[in-house]
Amino acid sequence: MNMATADSIAADEAALRRDILRIGGFLHQKSLVAASDGNISVRLPGGRVLATPTSMSKGMMEGADLVVTDMDGRKLEGRRNPSSEMAMHLLIYQLRPEVNGVVHAHPPAATGFAASGIALNQALLAEVVLALGCVPLAEYGTTGTPELSATLRPLIPHYDAILMANHGVVTYGEDVWKAYFKMETVEHFARIALVTHILGKQNLLGQEEVNKLLEARQRYEGITTAAANSANCPVTREGAAGGQPAPGLGPRLAAPPASNGKRRW
Ligand SMILES: [Zn+2]
Repeated sequence: MNMATADSIAADEAALRRDILRIGGFLHQKSLVAASDGNISVRLPGGRVLATPTSMSKGMMEGADLVVTDMDGRKLEGRRNPSSEMAMHLLIYQLRPEVNGVVHAHPPAATGFAASGIALNQALLAEVVLALGCVPLAEYGTTGTPELSATLRPLIPHYDAILMANHGVVTYGEDVWKAYFKMETVEHFARIALVTHILGKQNLLGQEEVNKLLEARQRYEGITTAAANSANCPVTREGAAGGQPAPGLGPRLAAPPASNGKRRW
């Protein structure tokens, strides 16, 4: 490696550290996390990962608090320790080679859906279908154990945002900003979905509209995950009327009863 290359890698890494600190500030200020919840990571060259440390508010970190690990989660640099939730980040990097940033948080509305066993899988908003395709619900697994990785593993290749039952949300993208903005979109969508449930009625998009959005998602964003909703995710108007829920997805909203205008819960 020549000096110029080494300098540019160091500059890139410094910029990525600043990105993580800024995103940590947003997670904290927007109440997407509480106390020392959540974690953020980026993939570095050479099989390394730069990540937030354990037991620290994501809104109060300095550059030197971040840790660098290898792809097995072993610490390579840093005065603090990596989070036990790093296993989830590393699994995503392993299964999705194009992903370079992962954000995990406990946003209140989306985590409320996750704690109620309800996926955010209804085709309610065109922008959300375009941005995320569908947000499935992974079954419960204890944080920091292979159990959690096992519940996430089948979903990671097909989706860019996942609700984790009784826990929170993980989002990922080509860079850490895209991963973070998906987290904002998930929480915003959860709030809007909640309003539709309070109002007692959801006017879902039809299959034809959803197909157009999924095609556009593939064409403009180069995204192939969840490009075909054969798993009934997102649930369309026709899917809600008679479709089968996808395995592992929240059954209550995957096939809701015909709306009679009354609140269902
Ligand atoms: Zn968590």
